[in-house]
Amino acid sequence: MKSNTKVVHAGMHPDPATGAIMTPIYQTSTYVQEAPGVNKGFEYARSQNPTRKALEEAMAVIENGKYGLVFGSGVAATDAVMRLFKPGDEIICSNDLYGGTYRLFSKIYENFGLRFAYVNTSDPKNVTDSITENTKLIWIETPTNPLMNITDIKAITDIAKKAGVLVCVDNTFASPYLQNPLDLGADIVLHSATKYLGGHSDVIQGSLVMNDAVLREKLYFIQKSCGAVPGPMDCFLVLRGIRTLALRMKAHSENGAKIAHWLRSHPKVDKVYWPGFEDHPGYKVAKAQMKDFGGMISFELKNDSVDEVKRVMMGTKLFSLAESLGGVESLINHPATMTHASIPREERIKNGLRDSLIRLSVGIEDADDLIADLNQAIG
Ligand SMILES: *Cc1c(COP(=O)(O)O)cnc(C)c1O
Repeated sequence: MKSNTKVVHAGMHPDPATGAIMTPIYQTSTYVQEAPGVNKGFEYARSQNPTRKALEEAMAVIENGKYGLVFGSGVAATDAVMRLFKPGDEIICSNDLYGGTYRLFSKIYENFGLRFAYVNTSDPKNVTDSITENTKLIWIETPTNPLMNITDIKAITDIAKKAGVLVCVDNTFASPYLQNPLDLGADIVLHSATKYLGGHSDVIQGSLVMNDAVLREKLYFIQKSCGAVPGPMDCFLVLRGIRTLALRMKAHSENGAKIAHWLRSHPKVDKVYWPGFEDHPGYKVAKAQMKDFGGMISFELKNDSVDEVKRVMMGTKLFSLAESLGGVESLINHPATMTHASIPREERIKNGLRDSLIRLSVGIEDADDLIADLNQAIG
């Protein structure tokens, strides 16, 4: 089945009680049992909820996986993956990670004895060189946030399989419409559903998708034992968002391409980070593993004084100054003071994230209006 069709039908089963085409919001904490231990597969809503179940099935379908699990946020989903490990275990991860992921790893899990090796995963050799007998997981983001670096997912999963190591891909930036890491050998796919899956900037949620039944059992056990489950209303919103994922991702990608090229031709703009440029170092890999290049773009101004960056960021009228991404409306963000402020400055600079970098989440408005807005703001 083609992905445009999949997103519309994924997890859809008319409600058995009424035939309601959309799975209702089962706002309940418990379920009445016919006799002690005799129930309809639903006992207590931390463990099972029909709205959540429909969404988990939908997530599995759209990521070409067998099992989905959803969590109260993207970082709660990341947290669940970390709970698979024990002190002394090593995790190799991309050195250009979402700030909240880095914070969770470095400020929480290092205290529990997990060890993290941050490497540039765009060159798979760095991953090979970092594997030790204690390595248990390779964690990658591609494209990365905010520098749009690309990692070859297949190359990494090939290395991992030889070493008997798991691979988790944070697929938030691409969305399941543009990229499906399980097809390329990944063991777990993670999403911040807050972003493109929800798509309307009205919900916080995370998800994991996998193929292995044993891994699913372990992660389901963590989900119900640790309890970071989303409420049924939030599950309903993401299920609804998924229905239009294909349409939205096409619009985000089309606008993204137009704006990336326009920015690159602007005399006041210095470097533009977007994997759809043929001279982007990850272009070939991105073209092979993604359906299109999405709506995330970062850029630097030639005049990189903080005042100039602030002037531009505060001058846009359609692009709202806000963290987050992936909603229908366009957002502008300053990683150094906003989304990535939790990464120490030396660490950011070392990884190529300058204070002058501006990140755009290009929405689905008309591209000409968005370009006119950026044009008046950059001046
Ligand atoms: C936002 C984000 C997360 C964290 O998700 P939350 O829903 O905010 O907890 C993880 N990874 C990436 C790439 C993100 O953009």
